[in-house]
Amino acid sequence: MKVPLLDLKAQYKRTEKEIDRAIKRVCESGRFILGDEVAKFEEETASYCKVNYGIGVSSGTDALLISLMALGIKPDDEIITSAYSFFATAGVISRLFAKPVFVDIEEDTFNINPSLIEEKINERTKAILPVHLFGQVAEMEPIMEISKRYNLPVVEDAAQAIGAQYKDGKVAGTIGDMGCLSFFPTKNLGGFGDGGMVLTKAEGLAEGIKILRVHGAKPKYYHKTIGGNFRLDSLQAAILRVKLKYLDDWTEKRQKNCQNYERLFSESGLGGLDKSSPYIDKFIHLPKAIYKEKGVKKYHIYNQFIVRVKERDSLRDFLKKNGIDTAIYYPLPLPLQECFKELGYKEGDFPESERASKETLTLPIYPEITLKMQEWVVDKIKEFFS
Ligand SMILES: *Cc1c(COP(=O)(O)O)cnc(C)c1O
Repeated sequence: MKVPLLDLKAQYKRTEKEIDRAIKRVCESGRFILGDEVAKFEEETASYCKVNYGIGVSSGTDALLISLMALGIKPDDEIITSAYSFFATAGVISRLFAKPVFVDIEEDTFNINPSLIEEKINERTKAILPVHLFGQVAEMEPIMEISKRYNLPVVEDAAQAIGAQYKDGKVAGTIGDMGCLSFFPTKNLGGFGDGGMVLTKAEGLAEGIKILRVHGAKPKYYHKTIGGNFRLDSLQAAILRVKLKYLDDWTEKRQKNCQNYERLFSESGLGGLDKSSPYIDKFIHLPKAIYKEKGVKKYHIYNQFIVRVKERDSLRDFLKKNGIDTAIYYPLPLPLQECFKELGYKEGDFPESERASKETLTLPIYPEITLKMQEWVVDKIKEFFS
């Protein structure tokens, strides 16, 4: 049986008529950049995330970059962030000639360990950039407490966590000063190309970002600051407006699929979170959905479903041979990337991130996956270990 990691064609089938109509509407309007579609999509997404402002931009990466620009980050400023994330999280810091200062993650959530942040703060520290990895909000309460005490703004990388809720019900990307979403096709709300958004409660920041988005111009052709071309296309906005209506349904399906895996793993004796499982050492450790017990609905939106495996690479090859696609997010922690060599980090500095990069494997969990497919995945994993 073939089990892809994601099936965007199946998703398109369900939304085809509406999306085709939306595309036609934009084509006929003759307005292809920003405009009414983008303004409406911004309003709808901000409302979905229960925040005052959403500013559509060209990608999740650019959402992060423009947020740091709006904070006035300068060369040699330091930004504290997670050692274990997609490259963009740290790349944007370096692009402003500022310095990423990495913090290791927590073992059970893969998110930044708040208890290791304070020791990294000094007079050059200008912001904290936590990531809500795989679809679960980072432990924000202690992060916000540190932010207040040291007067440091917080930019949340919510690229993988649109709509996910913290334990108090607050939504990813609306807890700090700014939150960044990505509409890259593989994200839970994915466009037909690149796109992103900055969320904020603050009118001043929203206004600043809108100006930076169009080369720092206000009014047009008069530049008080230097921005860039960070605009969102009307076509993407029109497509994403259709998809936004389905997002909660897709999220529920992902959560359901996670429960299916948990049940199937448990039935097959592979253990899940069961510490008494004979496989617990070599195989599996499900990511803990830590806000689930608090009655929060979107406690985890499962952009990715992660297992830990000691013989990760051979299991991955075995699954591939059986038609099952998996992925490794991420094979090398950020501080050990070649481009950050000058920062002077070495192996052993980030033990949890390094272990995660050697052990984590992503299994398919997209909304349209069938129970039969999930059973096949679990059967094959079981076969590998038998
Ligand atoms: C996808 C992603 C980004 C970047 O988003 P793009 O839209 O691809 O530029 C940033 N951070 C994280 C954690 C991501 O997963």
